[in-house]
Amino acid sequence: MSTASAQTPPQLTSLFADALPDLAAPWSPVPFSNATLLILNENLARDLGFDPQWLRSDDGLRFLLGESTSGHSGSIWPHPVSQAYSGHQFGNFSPVLGDGRAVLLGEVTVEQSDGATVAVDIHLKGTGRTQFSRGASDGRACLGPMLREYLVSEAMHAMGIPTTRALAVILTGETVLRRRPEPGAVLVRVARSHLRIGSFQYARMLWDSKPQVLTDLLDFALSRHPLRFSSLSGCSPEYPHGQPSTRDEDRSLGMEGTALHLLDTVARAQAKLMAQWLCVGFVHGVMNTDNVTISGETIDYGPCAFLDAFDSSTCFSSIDAQGRYAFGRQPHVMLWNLQRFAEALLPLIGQQTGVTAAGAVDKANSILLRYPEYFSHAWQSGIGTALGLAPIPTNRSSDTTAPLSASQVSVIDEFIAQLENSHADLLHVLNALARSLLETGEKRKAHLSHTPLSTRWIERWISHNPDPELMLRTNPVYIPRNHLVEEALSAAESGEMEAFHKLLKAVTEPCETPGQIRSGVDKEKESKYRETAPKTDAPYITYCGT
Ligand code: AMP
Ligand code: MG
Repeated sequence: MSTASAQTPPQLTSLFADALPDLAAPWSPVPFSNATLLILNENLARDLGFDPQWLRSDDGLRFLLGESTSGHSGSIWPHPVSQAYSGHQFGNFSPVLGDGRAVLLGEVTVEQSDGATVAVDIHLKGTGRTQFSRGASDGRACLGPMLREYLVSEAMHAMGIPTTRALAVILTGETVLRRRPEPGAVLVRVARSHLRIGSFQYARMLWDSKPQVLTDLLDFALSRHPLRFSSLSGCSPEYPHGQPSTRDEDRSLGMEGTALHLLDTVARAQAKLMAQWLCVGFVHGVMNTDNVTISGETIDYGPCAFLDAFDSSTCFSSIDAQGRYAFGRQPHVMLWNLQRFAEALLPLIGQQTGVTAAGAVDKANSILLRYPEYFSHAWQSGIGTALGLAPIPTNRSSDTTAPLSASQVSVIDEFIAQLENSHADLLHVLNALARSLLETGEKRKAHLSHTPLSTRWIERWISHNPDPELMLRTNPVYIPRNHLVEEALSAAESGEMEAFHKLLKAVTEPCETPGQIRSGVDKEKESKYRETAPKTDAPYITYCGT
């Protein structure tokens, strides 16, 4: 994204509120009298065309909280709204969820590096009750979870994984009561859009009375995410390979711009996202359909965490007793979510293709059947790259890059089986493998001795000429490890932000270079940022913290 000229104050559009009034509940702020800006992501602010200095002013703070600024004529953010959506939560359908503690302030138009302009959502979390707040829920958020989202989403972005971004965290000056009294906070979040599978499920419910809403939502989604779904996180073009794009055959079949096309594009984007999560050991924790974007951006960092020991059954969340959203289940659960998305689109698919209801199901299924191929392609590309195995070049477009050879795929499969058996740390093993390639003799052996991999496997892997520089560029070394996140957040809750900022710096420069390794310069980072959690008997447990 290029930097647009700084404006004071920023101009926002209300594209969503104007296009989809049935999905947009107007919101009026209740001002916070003692709010203070705790963190501002100045680089992101500049990318959005905002003036960081102005955002740090009193008027800027009011803007970031969705409150009217005094001293400016008229409203500068046309229609703050909370968004309506449904959601399958742990498999059960909730027809009306919506933003119970969040607000879409509006959109800002930014210019991307390719010169195209895109609208980007500015969204607030924790600003108070909305039309969708249920029962006695307070619409507030606590500092810890908002800082967790800031830290993890910025780390994901730095790793090249599509995600919402974090622009700011504001202390509201209020105390929020959860398991104990906690400081209240607001997260200012940025996304290519906040459209979710749940948004379509909500519009589908209105089909019988207001069919136009689903039609308008499809048009709006396609206008916000034309053909190639890109994200704010497209910073590492080589990780793993390319962005999803329209298949030529879809164009020739007349699918372009239809509900089937959207379904296919979302399936492709989410398959790739699942592969990217697996390649860094990320567990989202609450993959309900209201937490799945159609942009392919990771959203809603609640009970998320990273693996320290490779084990597909790992589930950190206190509320996921069945392990529905366990690490290795994520790609399968995403297909289940995509099936719910397809169901929501069925009336449009029928209308656009002129088939019966049963015919629409067949057409949707024909797209969903592609998902395993999309996922396995993204997974093999991603983990193959992580292991330094370059795909065989072909003349075809990036989304149809030739799969790895059968022999390369079996190297990958055996690698994962050995990790699963040993419960070793994925990123440590990948780093030891890359470093081993930079050495010979005893030094190489020393690195390999830190892995659980068999000599036979190592010989096979080396026979494929793995590229150590590709591995180092691809594999993060510094991730928000769970124990480090907890340490930083608890210090922050007692007013000490140094640990948070040091960890943020570490994880937003996640990779190391061969030069750094050769010179022994460890990016001046303390080695504690590389290490897994000290061994304890108690499993790591995450809580939603809402
Ligand atoms: P989440 O688990 O954050 O994805 O939220 C699930 C649903 O609960 C969404 O509809 C949220 O808006 C709502 N929600 C979560 N926390 C609160 C809160 N403190 N007050 C009101 N609604 C909330
Ligand atoms: Mg959510």
